[in-house]
Amino acid sequence: MKNLKPSHPIGSEVPAEATPTLPQGPWQTPAIDNDAFNQWKSSNVFAQKQSGFYGVYLKIHLGDVAPDTARALAKVVRETAADDIRFTAEQNILLRFIKAEALPYLYHELTKLGLADAGHDSIADITACPGTDTCALGVTNSTGLATELKDILNKEYPHLLAVKDVHIKISGCMNSCGQHMAASIGFHGSSIKQGIKVIPAMQVVIGGGLDLVTGQGFVADKVIKLPSRRIPEALRTLLSDYQNNKQEGENYLKYSQRQGKIYFYNILKPIGDTDQINEVEFFDWGQDSQYIQSIGVGECAGVSYDMVGAILGDAIEKLAEAKTSFKEEIWSESIYHAYTAMVIAAKGWLLAKDVKCNTHIGIIEDFETHFAKDPEFALVLPFSEMVLQMRDGEPDLKFAEEYLETASSFVGQIIKGRKAEGELAEKMVLDSYYKA
Ligand code: SF4
Repeated sequence: MKNLKPSHPIGSEVPAEATPTLPQGPWQTPAIDNDAFNQWKSSNVFAQKQSGFYGVYLKIHLGDVAPDTARALAKVVRETAADDIRFTAEQNILLRFIKAEALPYLYHELTKLGLADAGHDSIADITACPGTDTCALGVTNSTGLATELKDILNKEYPHLLAVKDVHIKISGCMNSCGQHMAASIGFHGSSIKQGIKVIPAMQVVIGGGLDLVTGQGFVADKVIKLPSRRIPEALRTLLSDYQNNKQEGENYLKYSQRQGKIYFYNILKPIGDTDQINEVEFFDWGQDSQYIQSIGVGECAGVSYDMVGAILGDAIEKLAEAKTSFKEEIWSESIYHAYTAMVIAAKGWLLAKDVKCNTHIGIIEDFETHFAKDPEFALVLPFSEMVLQMRDGEPDLKFAEEYLETASSFVGQIIKGRKAEGELAEKMVLDSYYKA
C-alpha cells in the first residue's frame, strides 16, 4: 500500500532542492549593449537561495511564443540552465540555476530570439486572457488593449518601467482568466448600449493584489464602466493621479486603499460621458468591423464545464463506433456500441433534467419513469424494451441494422432536444451576461 504520510510535515522546513545536473560552459562572452544588459539584469534576474545561481524571467508579451522561437529557446536553455522551463501566472517564463558567467551569453541569445525584454513584473508586464481573439465567451478584445497599453507605457512612461507595485491585468469578460480582480488596475470586458448600437466597454477595477509585507491578498473594487477605446485615457488619468498624490513610501495598494473606490469613480467619471461618441468607439481594439454581441462556449479556466454536452459527445462517439463496426460487418460489436450510445444519451438527458443516475439499468429505468410518455421522444416501444432488445436479438445483419437505426434515431432526438434547450437558455442569459 502507498505510504500516505507527508514527506514534509506541516510547519517543517522543506529541504533545499538538490542542484540539478547543469551545463558546464564555457560560455562565449559576446558583444552586448551593457546598459541594456544591466537594465535586464536588474528587472529580470534574481539571485537564487542556492549560492552562485541565478533565476531568469523572460517577459513574454501575452505569453505568446512562436514554435520556431520555442525550439530555439529550448536549445539555449540546455546550454545555460537547469533542464526545466516554468511558466508563470503572469504569462512569463522562468529559467533556473544559471551561473553568473553564463548570463551575458544567455542575454545575447535571448536578444536574438526577441525574448530579452526588460521589465519583468513591471507596470508594462501586462497579463491578458485571449478575449475575443479565440474565446467564445469573450465580450471584448483584451489582447488588442493590452498591446495598446504596453506601447503607451513604453513610450510615455519609461520612468515607470522599473516600478513593480502597479500591475495591469485584463480579461475579455467577467470570468477573470486574465486575473483582473488581482490587479492594481484591472479591466474586464463589457458593453454599453448606445441607442440601437452597442459600444465595446471595459469595467475598470482598482486595488487588487498582494501586500508583500503582510502576505494578505486583496480583491479589486469595481469602479466604473468605460468605452474600451477610452481605456488609454483612463490609464493616463490614474497614473498621473498616483504620481501627483501618493505619499512618501506609499505603494499603489496602500494608495488605492487610502483613496477608496468613490475617489477613483469621481476622477474617471468625466471619461465615461457617452453623450458624444466617436465612430471609432464602435470598433473594438484591433478590429475592423463594428462590434456585435455574441457569446458561445468558451475555452478557458473561467468557463464552467458543460458536463451534459461532454456526455452527449460520448454518445455520438459510440454511435459512430457502432456504424464503423456495422460497415466492417462485426454485428455483435455494432449492436453493443449502439446499446451504449442509447444508454449514454439517456444519461445525458437525465442529468440535464437533474435526475441523478448511475448504473446502466438504473439509467434505463429512470428514463422510462421520467420520460416514457414525453411526446418529444415519441418512442414506438417502452424505452427499456427498446434498449434491451439487444439481449434477445440475433447478432446478424438484420438485427444489427434495425438496432443501429433505433439507436441513431434516439440519440438524434436527444441531441435535438438538448440543442433547442441550449438556444433557449442562451437567449435567457445573454442579456444578464452583458450587463455585468
Ligand atoms: S472566459 Fe476567460 S478567456 Fe474567455 S474572455 Fe472570459 S476571461 Fe477571457
